[in-house]
Amino acid sequence: MRWTRSLIPTLKEAPAEAEAVSHTLMVRAGLVRQLAAGIYVYLPLGQRVMDKVNGIIREEMDRTGGQEITMPILHPAELWQQTGRWTAIGEEMFRLHDRGKRQMCLGMTHEEVITWLAAREIRSYRDLPQIWYQIQTKLRDEARPKSGVLRTREFLMKDSYSLDRDDEGLTRSYELHKEAYRRILARCGLAFHVVESDPGMMGGATAHEFMAPSEAGEDEVALCERCNYSANVELAISRPRTPAFPEWRLEEIATPDVRTIEEVCRFLNIDPALTIKSLLLVGHDGPFLALLRGDQRLHERKLARVTGEVRPAHRDEVVAHLGAEPGSIGPAGAKLPIIADESLREGRYVVGANKDGFHLRGVVPGTHFQPQWADIHQAKSGDGCPYCEGTLRIERVIEVGNIFKLGTKYSTSLKAMYLNEAGEERPIVMGSYGIGPARIAAAAIEQHHDELGIVWPPAIAPFQLHLLPVNVRDQKLVELAEAIYAQLGRERIEVLYDDRDDRPGVKFKDADLLGLPLRMTVGTRALREGIVDLKIRKTGEEVQVPLSEAVSRAHTLLSRLTD
Ligand code: ATP
Ligand code: MG
Repeated sequence: MRWTRSLIPTLKEAPAEAEAVSHTLMVRAGLVRQLAAGIYVYLPLGQRVMDKVNGIIREEMDRTGGQEITMPILHPAELWQQTGRWTAIGEEMFRLHDRGKRQMCLGMTHEEVITWLAAREIRSYRDLPQIWYQIQTKLRDEARPKSGVLRTREFLMKDSYSLDRDDEGLTRSYELHKEAYRRILARCGLAFHVVESDPGMMGGATAHEFMAPSEAGEDEVALCERCNYSANVELAISRPRTPAFPEWRLEEIATPDVRTIEEVCRFLNIDPALTIKSLLLVGHDGPFLALLRGDQRLHERKLARVTGEVRPAHRDEVVAHLGAEPGSIGPAGAKLPIIADESLREGRYVVGANKDGFHLRGVVPGTHFQPQWADIHQAKSGDGCPYCEGTLRIERVIEVGNIFKLGTKYSTSLKAMYLNEAGEERPIVMGSYGIGPARIAAAAIEQHHDELGIVWPPAIAPFQLHLLPVNVRDQKLVELAEAIYAQLGRERIEVLYDDRDDRPGVKFKDADLLGLPLRMTVGTRALREGIVDLKIRKTGEEVQVPLSEAVSRAHTLLSRLTD
């Protein structure tokens, strides 16, 4: 492609609102433009990247036996009402009416539609298993669209759905997807972790997420450095280190003007792991105490799985229920339900005495108060692995894909049944699998860039080679560059030909910004000595090659880079 005939509007400056590197570079390299919050136009180079990613996704989905279909974006409300998600999902769903005043919505995912289809087209066990997939636009009114194409309100997703007779079949389809996703991400040049995740609003029991390490991510994962335990921190279990518990006997101690855990520890000169943090929270069934060890933090999502949504109590509620200010409350003697973190099962602790200016020392959970036990602390770096003697490390990541075992939740509510060998009607056992091409492209940039620009993994680069004549006013040089361009085309190498009449410095800067794997510079040495320059973007390695070998050397270098 000739630059002068293309729309490649590179920019020197980053957009003011850009936080993520991928956002800055995608805008500066002329890949995307923002139309409105979380709504993007893909320009020609951005489109080529998406086509590359989608091509890889298609190949790997086809390898699983998946069949491509296209489902509509516009859905009748009834389907979503039948599964209960019309009300369960809040403002994230775009809803509208048609001219006949019928309620509709824009598809944020397609479990309802696929199950509708399965209910009509699958009759017997002989029709199973099936994997159906699409690469289709999703619409979600995200609360905080941000970071460029990492979180948008309109985005492409490859979503697929597996239909099986039983759990065994589902496990097979699930493993096929896990392998396909591994291959997709590896081919796209991403480093990633596969982690256990929370099935959330999908329902179902088992779920995994595919996470690309990056500071621009919104998720965190816990990874064991010894065994292969890895989980989203939303459900990661950890073994906080055990402190040395002193032989305290139960006694009340005066702690004047001491409120926070930090102040308690300084005042008594003790380890925060020897204290209990008591939080008064209000849930559906009223107020309750949540207890954590002083060195731990509450994980709200973990707690919400046990209690439903909660809010912190106001100061006057604390005083009314416990008779003390927030800094002096504790579980002993409290006439409220108590949920205590698992890490408190052992040991004796310092807790608030429910009396302003006093704490109790030597309180033994399970003896001096009876809690309900639950894992509600947030795993942190340095905690022990729940499955081995290893230590956990926390890493920030971008979720690029996820897979869910749905089971029969949707087939039951939408009556997608099949007849088994005995002629009995059974609900189809389903799985749901999503992966986001835009997030893959952006995560690739997050992981592969330098201070000059993008360093594309070859498999998803918009072009393979950047052909750069340094001076297009020199007719001889242009003739040479044109000849090379034609030859590269015949060899089916994807070339971006920078035929602009610009200073070499401008062109080199743009080449680094766009980040194509290989650059071929045709300069004055080409005319004088018959030598062109090949430069690998990733390593900065440069080689001078005779004109006669330029194209074959480019070939060799590119295939080396692709391996
Ligand atoms: P998140 O927790 O980040 O909101 P999600 O759990 O809602 O993601 P899914 O509904 O499972 O994501 O969608 C599957 C894939 O679609 C994600 O892994 C991601 O790659 C992509 N995706 C989801 N939401 C967005 C979005 N707002 N913008 C771009 N891609 C998205
Ligand atoms: Mg989401």
